Amino acid sequence: MADYDVIIIGAGPAGLTAGIYSGRARLKTLVVEDYTILSQAMLADSIENYPGFLEGINGSELIENFKKQAEKFDAEFKTGIVKYLKRREDNIWEIQLGDGNDELLTSRSVIIATGASPRKLDVPGEDIFQGRGVSYCATCDAAFYKDKEVVVVGGGDSAIEEALFLTRFAKKVFVVHRRDALRATKILQERAFQNKKIEFIWDSIVTQILGAEKVTAVRIKNLKKDTYQDLHCDGVFVFVGYRPNTSFVKEILILDKDGYIITDENMKTSEEGIFACGDCRKRPLRQIVTACGEGAIAAFSCQQYIDSLL
Ligand code: NAP
Repeated sequence: MADYDVIIIGAGPAGLTAGIYSGRARLKTLVVEDYTILSQAMLADSIENYPGFLEGINGSELIENFKKQAEKFDAEFKTGIVKYLKRREDNIWEIQLGDGNDELLTSRSVIIATGASPRKLDVPGEDIFQGRGVSYCATCDAAFYKDKEVVVVGGGDSAIEEALFLTRFAKKVFVVHRRDALRATKILQERAFQNKKIEFIWDSIVTQILGAEKVTAVRIKNLKKDTYQDLHCDGVFVFVGYRPNTSFVKEILILDKDGYIITDENMKTSEEGIFACGDCRKRPLRQIVTACGEGAIAAFSCQQYIDSLL
């Protein structure tokens, strides 16, 4: 006997959608929320590409609604950090929680939806000034920079979306990007190019974050000219991609070289009974809408797997 039919690890869009679908499939479902990981969606001020919300929707409101919907279909929730998974001889999975809540849970199947966390720049000053001028979340910290000057590092959707958000508060937003073209979606690029508060510093990287009590400047290297300049700023927002939260399964699942879980189109991983969905999985499009779709497929595959055990 196992405690649950399915344990879902992660409570972002993928995990919560899996919870809604497995609850509706009448599988005994537990969602384990890791309090050290905040869903990226939760941090979005306004999500304007999730269908059905013409004026956009706030990320935490959307996630709260997903959670209530999963609870409505009897999914249970528990807070904890998963240390490891182990298959027992009777094919039941053991899920060991740690860091204070050292509980051992058992389940017939597992859905991993642990998402991804911001990557660091790995330059001097970044760690020392984290929380004192260095941030990975504009939605959380932008209000501290009213009428100040900030630097955003990166050229993807996150960097440009957050740079645009920062212009509501900061008087100047410098976007430092290592190439001379952005990776971000065209509509975001258009908005950023039209925004007078945003200035782009192309072909450049931040090599050091400078300051005393707080950040006062960044050292920037122009990669084409091989020159350096120190740019005054009060804050640095880093958006240079994400790394998947998959270290706890690296011994048991096949991951790609960057640590993303490899699945088939039915969200099946390399281990029977374990499924993965959302940003922790290798996939071409990292969006809330695709995470939700994958969560639904993972729950459906779980249901089929559990039926096959009977
Ligand atoms: P991303 O698409 O991987 O972009 C990362 C950016 O950081 C790239 O411009 C990259 O430069 C740059 N970069 C990477 N490493 C760097 C380094 N060491 N130093 C300097 N620059 C570095 O990451 P993201 O913007 O966080 O987006 C992640 C995923 O979420 C994407 O699939 C994105 O579409 C999605 N997302 C979607 C939305 C939306 O739909 N509204 C919002 C946010 C995120 P290069 O371009 O030269 O590689």
